[in-house]
Amino acid sequence: MNIPNTSEFKNNPEENIIKGFDFKNPPSQSLVDQCVHCGFCLSTCPSYRIMGKEMDSPRGRIYLMNAINKGEANLDDTTAPHFDSCLGCLACVSTCPSGVQYDQLIAAVRPQVERNQPRNLWEKFLRSIIFNLFPYAQRLKIFLPLLWFYQVSGLQTLVKKIGFLKYFPRIASMESILPPINLKSLNKKYPDIIPSKGEKKYRVGVVLGCVQRLFFDSVNEATVRVLTANGCEVVIPKTQGCCAALPAHQGQENQAQSLARQMIDSFADTEVDYIIINAAGCGHTLKEYHHILADDPQYLSKAKDFVSKVKDIHEFLAQIEFTAQLSPITTDQVKVVYQDACHLLHGQKISLQPRQLLQKIPNLELKEPLDNALCCGSAGVYNLLQPEVANELGEQKVRNLLNTGAEIIASPNPGCSLQIMKHLQLQEKNIKVIHPIELLDYAIRGQMLQ
Ligand code: SF4
Ligand code: SF4
Repeated sequence: MNIPNTSEFKNNPEENIIKGFDFKNPPSQSLVDQCVHCGFCLSTCPSYRIMGKEMDSPRGRIYLMNAINKGEANLDDTTAPHFDSCLGCLACVSTCPSGVQYDQLIAAVRPQVERNQPRNLWEKFLRSIIFNLFPYAQRLKIFLPLLWFYQVSGLQTLVKKIGFLKYFPRIASMESILPPINLKSLNKKYPDIIPSKGEKKYRVGVVLGCVQRLFFDSVNEATVRVLTANGCEVVIPKTQGCCAALPAHQGQENQAQSLARQMIDSFADTEVDYIIINAAGCGHTLKEYHHILADDPQYLSKAKDFVSKVKDIHEFLAQIEFTAQLSPITTDQVKVVYQDACHLLHGQKISLQPRQLLQKIPNLELKEPLDNALCCGSAGVYNLLQPEVANELGEQKVRNLLNTGAEIIASPNPGCSLQIMKHLQLQEKNIKVIHPIELLDYAIRGQMLQ
């Protein structure tokens, strides 16, 4: 097998089209060797559940990594699709009795696939739209009025009626998760510092996110109110950009590193005690900056310092003294089902805290769905890149959530919310999907849920 040595490695992908992994951080053989092939992870893996093939399971992918590392298989168009089919949900990491760090393995493989496996023109075009648009709120903003017009003018209804998008399934996938556009977020500006209500106990930074900021700004507003009501002075640096989750999950290494550096720099002089995030996927990536910037000697220690301060909003509220008073949000008892987001449950091991916080709300009855640990199919942009598998998972997830008899679905991640909203609509169910922090905010403000 023709694998260049480290000194031969060049950054131009054209010069690195090789059969195996290149030498820039291939999956660690010692991590690969920890897999004892027991197969416990198979039943919890969503891609294996839907596709039913060993090579689309964690164990199968580890076999492939091992074979490619040893020169017994190639990284080519027969093997790369099995890495692409992984949702990165990390359910296998939670399940594995041998402690195999599949998260580190797949994180090493994704950039290898991006560098060394050519994609067809359409795939390149789609990925270029996703990576040049989605992580940049300022660029996305330009399209917001157009999308708003598309929805309010009746064009969306017409396009759906004609079924025109069935000829462009990937575009149809993007369109199908479009939430109702609210132009208010176009001009939304948060002050740099928002004082605490009452005695100040903490100074915390808040990461606004990209999708969250434009499509679910009510979650950010609620986050700020809940934090200030619990003794936090909130700092929101204007220079913050995307957390880098999207490019990091898809192996866009350079873009992920550059966005991570921007985020670190934006909080550098803020002197905050904690950096709070309300989106599960973003939170997991923020906590991975020391891995993303592992090869950057200038930023590695800054990344470690940053990571030590990152807290998911539920994690933070559960650890501090929650002082705000909570009132009922409905006149009668209301059934709420909490949907575990993979990057909170498996990625950050946070599952009890959101439930405990929700249970503080008077009149709220918490329900538990079947298969709560199974991915909803959103997985960053997986539902745009692999719509067939994502649709089956979305349909199953919504069915399980509805079977609880809940009247409200509480979801801690914007991607999951969009996926669930899409499948609720497809199943013609009109159920509210809301972030747990918004429910807490209603209860703190003593407002009835509309
Ligand atoms: S990350 Fe999720 S989809 Fe990927 S192998 Fe693990 S369980 Fe399967
Ligand atoms: S990853 Fe873990 S659970 Fe899965 S086959 Fe290997 S050792 Fe078993």
